Amino acid sequence: MKNCQKCKVPLEGWRFKLAHALFGIMPSTKEPDCCNKCEAKDVPQAPAPSEQSGDAGAAN
Ligand SMILES: [Zn+2]
Repeated sequence: MKNCQKCKVPLEGWRFKLAHALFGIMPSTKEPDCCNKCEAKDVPQAPAPSEQSGDAGAAN
């Protein structure tokens, strides 16, 4: 029996069919050990724009 490595949702058998019917769970196409939900969560977000403060000089 194969399960998602992250959320442990079943990816095979009748439990998978149930999870698919109830939650739309599908095996991830990119990560075979994960479900599509975890794949969606895993998408790296764009890094937050960091504040470029230009106060490198010591105030003295
Ligand atoms: Zn998952």
